[in-house]
Amino acid sequence: MICCGAQLLPRHLLRTKAITPTDSTTHPRPRQRPFVGLLAEPLQLLLLMLVVGAPVAAALAAMWAAAVASTTLREDATTQLAIYEANLRGELERHAAVPLALTRDSDVVELLQSPDPGRVTRMNRKLEELATALGASALYVMDHAGLTLAASNWNTATSFVGQNFAYRPYFRMAIASGEGHHFALGTTSFVPGFYTAHRVMAENRTLGAVVLKVGFERLERTWRLGPDKVAVTDRDGMVFITTEDSWRYHALPRRLPLSLPSTPEPAREETPNLPWAFGGGADRIAVREDGAERRYLLLSAAVPGGDWTLHTLTGIAPVAEWAQVAGLLGAALAALAGLAAYAVAQRRTTLADRLAMQETARVELERRVAEATAELREAENELTQAVKLAALGQMSAGIAHEINQPLAAIRSFADNAVVLLDRGRPEAVRGNLAEIAGLTDRMAAITRQLKGFARRASGTLSPVQVDAAVEQAVSLLGSRLRRDAVTVETDLPGEPVWAMGEDVRLQQVLVNLIGNAADAVRGRPQRLVRILLTCSGDGEAILSVRDTGTGIREEDLPRLFVPFFTTKEAGEGLGLGLSISHGIVEEFGGSLTAANHPDGGAIFTLRLKRAEQTAR
Ligand code: ADP
Repeated sequence: MICCGAQLLPRHLLRTKAITPTDSTTHPRPRQRPFVGLLAEPLQLLLLMLVVGAPVAAALAAMWAAAVASTTLREDATTQLAIYEANLRGELERHAAVPLALTRDSDVVELLQSPDPGRVTRMNRKLEELATALGASALYVMDHAGLTLAASNWNTATSFVGQNFAYRPYFRMAIASGEGHHFALGTTSFVPGFYTAHRVMAENRTLGAVVLKVGFERLERTWRLGPDKVAVTDRDGMVFITTEDSWRYHALPRRLPLSLPSTPEPAREETPNLPWAFGGGADRIAVREDGAERRYLLLSAAVPGGDWTLHTLTGIAPVAEWAQVAGLLGAALAALAGLAAYAVAQRRTTLADRLAMQETARVELERRVAEATAELREAENELTQAVKLAALGQMSAGIAHEINQPLAAIRSFADNAVVLLDRGRPEAVRGNLAEIAGLTDRMAAITRQLKGFARRASGTLSPVQVDAAVEQAVSLLGSRLRRDAVTVETDLPGEPVWAMGEDVRLQQVLVNLIGNAADAVRGRPQRLVRILLTCSGDGEAILSVRDTGTGIREEDLPRLFVPFFTTKEAGEGLGLGLSISHGIVEEFGGSLTAANHPDGGAIFTLRLKRAEQTAR
């Protein structure tokens, strides 16, 4: 049956279409993923990152970098402003004591008391030496009327000697209060400078003044080396020291929203304004330079001891540059993040697609397997039915034959008995009746066999003594074995062998095996049946029934235990014995196998589970 089912399988598989995961004709590839917004599609995600993410990241990075750079710029500029202021103060204080010291110089006093040419010449040279040593613009001595008697620049074209500077504020301040300061443009040299004047007194009389003019060219030169633009404004807000020549004598624009340390006096109408404009913040100014507008950070500080204010202008281009670089980096990072996310999403999509495809293929495969299995089962059922019918037919034929023969014989014996009775031969009638009884016994045996086939196991197994069962089976078959001159040799262990089973049914199996063996040796020169019972090490009782018959044909071996398989003549066997025996032994939890012995004849091996119980 199984064999026939297996033969059908290739036919079904042949009918089954080849299954491949890419079979999209009947099952389109499922691309529908649950819609979870834009991010579901990798390309959309990438576009989103490029179109929105990159600019936003660029803007944020630029803002952050601008803020950081602005802070750094302001800190640096503040430090720089303090340095510039220290430079300026140092420049002013460096020479402050010189004119004061000269007011006590005897040569100066004598010159002022009696300015003869010799003294003038000597003083000129002295002042020249001093001015050169100090790096001052000019150092000169004025009499009480403001006339310059001697000057460090006595031998230059712009010599102050003989000039009267009585109108100069510093002179008037010095004469009036002893000390005067003023920043002014030189009337002779037109070189701007800071004038410091000290009054010269002798015997409570004002003799004149010693004046030092300091220029800021050197300071300006030094400042120019730095990165910033620097300007110093006076109390009127006018630039007089600066790194930018074009700014000099220009005033701070009035409307500039600057927070200055001191409010400048309103500049005179004619004073031109600095080219500074509002630069987008309280400390930002825009300066027009060479036709272009540049932005600066403006810091201002009051110069102690004067009305001056120091201004530094630091270019803010680096802030913009940093912001630009950071913006680009931000955009690049966002783009990179977008690409990375795209790659991940793409991978996930591919993976999801592959999984979906695999799932589709799996479902399809399952469907086809289910189909094939159903077809197979149907075919199997049909076959089972056919086999059942065939078996039924075979069995009916067998039974009919087995029953018909004795029936016909009984009939003829009965008819004969009637005739014999009429003829008054009761002895012969008795013989006929005995024959009839024998025939009914045979029919009973047939029906008994059929009943055995139909009988189910009781389900209760108990220890049975196998060696005893063997002896009983041999004795049951005794008359038949003697009739056929069959020798039975039993080789049993000396002690009882117990196994799990049922007494009667085990006997039924043994009778069948020994009976078959006796059948097999019938007509053979040597008619021997050997029964060997042994116990294996792993708890089995092994019983073999070997005969000296013809053995079993190789092709018959696989179907020996199939119901109704028989090689015997009609009327001699139903082919149920081995099938029933096999079923019984399986119910005992054991096994029954058949083979041909190498020395000839068949050997049936019965294995049973040995029982714990060893005595009854
Ligand atoms: P039956 O004896 O009615 O034919 P069984 O099921 O007992 O039914 O046996 C089936 C067949 O197995 C027999 O017809 C016979 O061909 C074969 N067979 C059984 N025992 C032997 C044996 N000892 N030697 C050779 N053939 C055997």
